[in-house]
Amino acid sequence: MSVLVDLIYTSEASEDGYYGNFSDHEDNSYGGRKEKRKRFEGAEEGSRGPLDSRSDEPMPLPNPMVGFNLPNQKLRSVDRCLPSKAIGPPFYYYENVAIAPKGVWTMISRFLYDIQPEFVDSRFLCAAARKRGYIHNLPIKNRSPLLPLPPKTIFEAFHRTKKWWPTWDPRKQLNCLLTNVAKPKLMEQIHHALAKCEGPPPRRVQKYVLETCREGSLVWVGLNKVAHLEPNEMEYLLGFPKDHTRGISMTDRYKSLGNSFHVDTVAYHLSVLRDMFPHGMNVLSLFSGIGGAEVALHRLGIRMKTVVSVEISEVNRFVLRSWWDQTQTGTLIEIADVQSLTSERLESCIKRIGGFDLVIGGSPCNNLAGRNRFHRDGLDGEHSSLFYHYARILDTVKSIMDRM
Ligand code: SAH
Repeated sequence: MSVLVDLIYTSEASEDGYYGNFSDHEDNSYGGRKEKRKRFEGAEEGSRGPLDSRSDEPMPLPNPMVGFNLPNQKLRSVDRCLPSKAIGPPFYYYENVAIAPKGVWTMISRFLYDIQPEFVDSRFLCAAARKRGYIHNLPIKNRSPLLPLPPKTIFEAFHRTKKWWPTWDPRKQLNCLLTNVAKPKLMEQIHHALAKCEGPPPRRVQKYVLETCREGSLVWVGLNKVAHLEPNEMEYLLGFPKDHTRGISMTDRYKSLGNSFHVDTVAYHLSVLRDMFPHGMNVLSLFSGIGGAEVALHRLGIRMKTVVSVEISEVNRFVLRSWWDQTQTGTLIEIADVQSLTSERLESCIKRIGGFDLVIGGSPCNNLAGRNRFHRDGLDGEHSSLFYHYARILDTVKSIMDRM
């Protein structure tokens, strides 16, 4: 019993101590979830939409977060009419965490030609949640999902966990995959606490263990033994090829995968491009990370003639470059910093390749999400303000291409 008391006490006393925060792009942080929900979700009836003039109004998040439509759900379909200034070329696609401080999505929408975001939780497409907002000017009819469809439940994805799953853990899906992992001590404490019990553990312990498992997306891998997913398991759930991030440090793998696109969700949205560009596309990929956009296009069978990829992390550039060399025949041009992508550079690039068909990217969300709510500065934060470079670059590309 003393171990249980210890376990619960330790967890309460050091809520912030088990998981660090490496998130560039993460919303499912440990702790503070209730508070976020209260502040940002559950829009009241009659609350104003994204094009409203009061920028401090929160953007209502749909519940359930299913976007404009989902694969194989023919009943529900949304019509939308794009503002004329939003119509391409180029097509554009911007992503960030759905649950952001008040006013952020209204502001993002305003800078991206007043398009209403499509909020999607990836748990409707796979076994793990990832709540994201997407602003894009793509058609939304006749989308098709990547095949084979990804597993929708934990057991489908990781069959061997079933053997160890206690009846009192009702989870069928995982929460958002994190950018970091729980400390081994936590697993050890959970193991000790459960091993001491004869029969099912007391409710209080169940509740604590469940909460910990939910927040860390932990799975049962042995008797009374939980663990976080391995990077290759995350790659699988996120739609990347096996070993995509292998060869870099574990810390970097978790960080990059925690921040990446969910490939199947993004591919579902981009699938409409396949018939429009049978001979391939030129892509400007901003904040490319480990190449979620590129992998999505590749898995859709869309040829990438040229990708100009802008990504500051050398490790991420290595991941993308090595995948590219194995799978692509087109040209990959790498640039490190969005801030160095000037109008002159864009103009010379556009003249050389004949224009971009797609501008895609999700800027860092360090100041929009994360465990420490006092450090969420909205779009003015050091990292999140890089969003304005996405808007600036898109604007520049549009006007250069208009003149062509
Ligand atoms: N969509 C990506 C991940 C985006 S996360 C994927 O699928 O992997 C945001 C990315 O922006 C991170 O990889 C981060 O390294 C990168 N980044 C941060 N500052 C940047 C800058 N100034 N210029 C270019 N990239 C930057």
